[in-house]
Amino acid sequence: MPVSIYRFTRDLRLDDQWGLTSAADVGEVLPVLVIDHSATQRLSRSPRRAAFFCAAVRALDASLRERGSRLIVRRGPVGGTLRSIARASGAVAVTWSARYDVPGASGDAALQSELEEAGLRATLVHDAPAIPPEETNATRSDGGDGYRAFVPYFERWRELTPHVYEAPLLVRFAASDLQSEALPRAQEFGTTECGGDVSSSAASAQLETFLNGPGLQYAIAANVPADDSTSHLSAHLSFGTVAARTAMRRTQERARDPFLLVEERASLRLFLRSLAMRDFFLQLAWYHRVDDEPLQEKMRGFRFAKSHPALDAWRAGETGYPLVDAGIRQLHATGWMHPHIRAVAASFLCFDLGMDWRVGREEWARYATDDDAVISTGNWQWIAGVGADMAQYPRIYNPEKQRRHFDPHGAYVRQWIEELSHATTFEASKASRAQIELPLFAGPAYPLPVVDHDVEARAFLTRYREFLAKTKP
Ligand SMILES: Cc1cc2nc3c(=O)[nH]c(=O)nc-3n(C[C@H](O)[C@H](O)[C@H](O)COP(=O)(O)OP(=O)(O)OC[C@H]3O[C@@H](n4cnc5c(N)ncnc54)[C@H](O)[C@@H]3O)c2cc1C
Repeated sequence: MPVSIYRFTRDLRLDDQWGLTSAADVGEVLPVLVIDHSATQRLSRSPRRAAFFCAAVRALDASLRERGSRLIVRRGPVGGTLRSIARASGAVAVTWSARYDVPGASGDAALQSELEEAGLRATLVHDAPAIPPEETNATRSDGGDGYRAFVPYFERWRELTPHVYEAPLLVRFAASDLQSEALPRAQEFGTTECGGDVSSSAASAQLETFLNGPGLQYAIAANVPADDSTSHLSAHLSFGTVAARTAMRRTQERARDPFLLVEERASLRLFLRSLAMRDFFLQLAWYHRVDDEPLQEKMRGFRFAKSHPALDAWRAGETGYPLVDAGIRQLHATGWMHPHIRAVAASFLCFDLGMDWRVGREEWARYATDDDAVISTGNWQWIAGVGADMAQYPRIYNPEKQRRHFDPHGAYVRQWIEELSHATTFEASKASRAQIELPLFAGPAYPLPVVDHDVEARAFLTRYREFLAKTKP
């Protein structure tokens, strides 16, 4: 039987694996992981991602060993390494999962040509999204370059059912005496962080626990950062320890439970909307190559600032606006920030400080375990009012109103801002004063606001309107 290489990238599981199933259609599968220079560089910039990756690879190798196989790990340039493994094993084909960021997609295209020139069948599959871009695009009447707006995309997406790929038991692995290098270890990326149990079985269990508990209250969780009960699946989805397809399918199945209450079903629908948002940004990047250039042509000449005296305060979670600071400190402490607070903290950077969204994206990439070039760019562009959000004006969040609405009793703020852990008032301007008034707290004072939100937001809108007036054809 022919040998077919499956190259794992960010799809570190055996279940519901399109690529693996597709490789198995060609022959006996040889599971391979190649760590090249750019992957090493990316992981070295993000200790938490490096730790997650190493732990997930270890778990994947263990699952393969249970099946009588093992991961062949190599370090070096991807093309040359795969060609040499193919020569040594007699493999006739290589399959892997497509990337969506601009350098990744060009790298995939170049790799495909290189392997085909070497006489190998090279196949890319859309494993990352629940619904491949071509499927949502198929019914478009305009020649199809994907969707630029989320609402019509979601209308289409929600009608579809994700494919199921056969259970790994049906995949036959090739017997091979090829040597493998050592599995990646966090230390090689300059960190001693530990990834914990991030196996695909842990990810699936997390999904099931969520769908049977907090997921039924998701509509509330999405608005109450203190409860911390959104799914926390983003890093698993990012590394593919759970398939987005599985998450979508299981949520659809759960929503058909006749014993659910109306609010519970609505919560699951909202959760599906979040999963659709992820697919939306992937297809946007696939068709529009979204990167450093704003998606909105009209905004390409708009200049955000490259620096601001309060930039370091934003980075450190010391802006004096408690909700913004709590979010940033949560990110530093855990590698994750509540979805809505991300929007508020990002809006503060772009509008209150007028800073370039790319600065925020780079900053968070160092801390977020779920950092994903495409999803982060799509969201940052959306927040900055230069991306896929079709609102006429940028959506500037008022960090104080947001705090009053999303954290009315200060539970979230108290949890993440030590200086305010005993405070009873959280008004941005009063927060530090309230604390100073209490002699009990001798620690560092919580800062006064670094800018006046109302003044800065209006100044930004004026600049924005002037820019649009000048550039109007
Ligand atoms: C400025 C900014 C940057 C972001 N950067 C990233 C990033 O690098 N990686 C990332 O995965 N998410 C990013 N998000 C989206 C979102 O904040 C996270 O996916 C979410 O906080 C993850 O928590 P959760 O898994 O509990 O989400 P849940 O609320 O439980 O949602 C379930 C899943 O849906 C997807 N999802 C939810 N919201 C979004 C969204 N707005 N865009 C795309 N997918 C979404 C995620 O995969 C998430 O795991 C960003 C949002 C903003 C505003």
